[in-house]
Amino acid sequence: MSRLDSFIRRLTAQRDILNSIGALVQDTDGPVLEFGLGNGRTYDHLRELLPNRRIIAFDREVHSYSASTPPPEDMVTGDIRKSGPAFVGIGAALAHADIGTGHDEIDAVTLTWLPQLVAGVLKAGGIAVSGLPLDWPELEPLPLPDGIKDGRYFLYRRK
Ligand code: SAM
Repeated sequence: MSRLDSFIRRLTAQRDILNSIGALVQDTDGPVLEFGLGNGRTYDHLRELLPNRRIIAFDREVHSYSASTPPPEDMVTGDIRKSGPAFVGIGAALAHADIGTGHDEIDAVTLTWLPQLVAGVLKAGGIAVSGLPLDWPELEPLPLPDGIKDGRYFLYRRK
């Protein structure tokens, strides 16, 4: 499979999983945390799925499209490894983490802290959607929507 095909499948999985959990998250109070704002595509999609919900976005720096940039009070800049722990206990309804790089050695370092952080920011019953696997006892894997191959994108519920 070409890298283009692989990229398209990953983004399709990302969108389909986010769409699949919209109604579930709608019924759960709490903010949404978007780890890895990037250019703001998934931030924009989450705003459509969950209108009026507070979405707090994180990235090293802001380089999103201006129309997909959160207000300053909902934008946290810097390394998530350092900024994220301040949000543990916030009781998020959804955490979406799209901070994988495709480089195994970099992602392995991310995976030393990301699963615990995601579990820590979610309320019980909160949902985690991630481009990297989040192997953590409090995060229960959920079945993926039809047509999404295992391992392409990941979906969990906080116990
Ligand atoms: N989901 C985004 C979108 O739809 O536009 C794309 C996210 S992009 C693949 C990943 C982003 O995560 C990059 O902007 C990168 O700077 C950010 N990122 C990765 N690791 C990070 C870290 N440890 N701390 C802060 N930002 C990080």
